[in-house]
Amino acid sequence: MNVILCAGGHYMLPAVQEVERRLGEAKCAICKQSSFGIDQRFMQADGEWRGVCKKCFYSFPVYTDMEFYLRTQPDIPYRLREISCTACKHRGVSLDFRATMSVRESIYFVTCGGCKRQFTEKSSLEAFE
Ligand SMILES: [Zn+2]
Ligand SMILES: [Zn+2]
Repeated sequence: MNVILCAGGHYMLPAVQEVERRLGEAKCAICKQSSFGIDQRFMQADGEWRGVCKKCFYSFPVYTDMEFYLRTQPDIPYRLREISCTACKHRGVSLDFRATMSVRESIYFVTCGGCKRQFTEKSSLEAFE
């Protein structure tokens, strides 16, 4: 079942298929393949999902509630404004969801505010905390 839309409708979590497709832009931390699924048994109401590598079954957390994340991590919006699109050079992206591929590798899945191109940005933020 695909639910998850609050009454106001101001924020919607991304669709599972969309997240699975975009995870393909990343590489598995273990086997380096790029074929992932979302394990829907572990989808939590707070937006924490679980991505699974289809090759080696390595699993990792995927966070889809970015509204909450941005509210609790006030420095992130500033960093997002600094990211520039490699296609159109526009500065400033929106954060769609993120995945923690390993303790050292957090990946942001972002959309360019200019040309709407979707791409990934590796975050090393956690490493400095
Ligand atoms: Zn793998
Ligand atoms: Zn762009």
